[in-house]
Amino acid sequence: MKLALIGVGDAGTRIVDRLVAAEAETGRWFTEGNVLAFNTAAHAFDETESIPDERQVLIGDTHPDVTQRVAADADDTSSTHVDGVDADDTEAASDSDRDGSDKSSTERPGVGGDPEVGADVATTDLPEIRRALDSIDETEVAATMVVAGLGGGTGAGVGSVIVEELQAVHESPVYALGVLPASTESDRRALTAARGIRTLVPLADAVFPVDNEAWRHGVEPVDERYDAINDAIATRIVGLFGAGERAPTSPSEMRIDPADIRRTLEVGGLASIGRETVTIETDSSGLMARLLRLLGLADDTRGGQETDAATVKRLVQQVLNAELTLPCDITSTDRALLILSGPPSAISRKGFETGRYLLEEETGTVEVLAGDEPLPDASTITATVLFANVTTVPRIDELQARATAAGAFEPSETGTDGAEDTGGAEDTGGAEDTGD
Ligand code: GDP
Repeated sequence: MKLALIGVGDAGTRIVDRLVAAEAETGRWFTEGNVLAFNTAAHAFDETESIPDERQVLIGDTHPDVTQRVAADADDTSSTHVDGVDADDTEAASDSDRDGSDKSSTERPGVGGDPEVGADVATTDLPEIRRALDSIDETEVAATMVVAGLGGGTGAGVGSVIVEELQAVHESPVYALGVLPASTESDRRALTAARGIRTLVPLADAVFPVDNEAWRHGVEPVDERYDAINDAIATRIVGLFGAGERAPTSPSEMRIDPADIRRTLEVGGLASIGRETVTIETDSSGLMARLLRLLGLADDTRGGQETDAATVKRLVQQVLNAELTLPCDITSTDRALLILSGPPSAISRKGFETGRYLLEEETGTVEVLAGDEPLPDASTITATVLFANVTTVPRIDELQARATAAGAFEPSETGTDGAEDTGGAEDTGGAEDTGD
């Protein structure tokens, strides 16, 4: 499925940069060059390797509350406003920001972690943002995805304004991928992310939260895991949206239909992705059976099909037990989609149906779509599973509870089912900085 990617803030910029690199590495050309990054501080742009320079848009550079470089002395506010980017200073600030400790806003470049300032910058610079968004060719893509760290002032503040703007001008769906802060990050980030989720769910056609807490695997500070987490995100997003975007190398009756991804996500709400890979058996009997089937000499025997079915069943079971982009109770999903990527000779129709049946059984939904991505030369089979509109998500409940404890919401306003909440970009702002 063709997808335009728009990174916002540091996290958004880095993740989109990684996604564009993964697109080239895998030959799954799903963006067609429809890529943009917006930021209020330039340092994350200095790190990019795959987003073309002309696709990187610095906003807020004349806004009075935007800091481009960090004062050597935090009291020296005279040097905290825009006056050119000092790479060393901003890099140092980036590092101090990355550990999630609650630094004062004057120590952070950009909007200082304040989503209200982020939303104000985006509103002020809307003409510039609109000009940049015009470079996205909507006729070339089936949807657009805005990628941001929801605990960030730029990601949450600017990101929600951009999602709102895209919804106003695009007919195709607008998805959001939002990174949730780790539990070791500041209250302020938790508050911002809790509000960000509540704003985005009603605004976007589907939201893919990615849980930094689950994916940091206990490593502290979380920024030491950014690269690994961004790789995991890229593998899953490219595995999902990029499936079927490689030049067809072999026919398949079951080939994934990009419209099925869109159909699965039509239920809105929160989406999560799981993915696991197995190496295809290489013992001599397995190889021989494969070879015979490839040569069309095997009577496509029950034996071969049973083996494939058992492999696929095990694989799908592994996905269900493995780490999801957003850990959740999969029985709370409304719709699911299974993509099997691998050599057609190793994925029989029976294997395929077995995988789909298992998913139906385990999720309790009958709305399971499925398709394959034929990769004739692969020595592995990968199952990618999309769970749409999951509603039992302990991590988001935790974030909302943390926000409530800090006085941000009334208890009745909390809960995962943000689709019922009204909200608007302005809701993102206003998180009080309660400190840690
Ligand atoms: P912004 O630039 O103001 O939007 O703020 P950041 O993007 O720096 O941070 C917002 C949130 O995103 C925080 O919770 C960070 O921990 C997280 N974050 C920042 N960079 C990355 C990254 O490269 N990968 C991941 N997974 N999370 C990130």
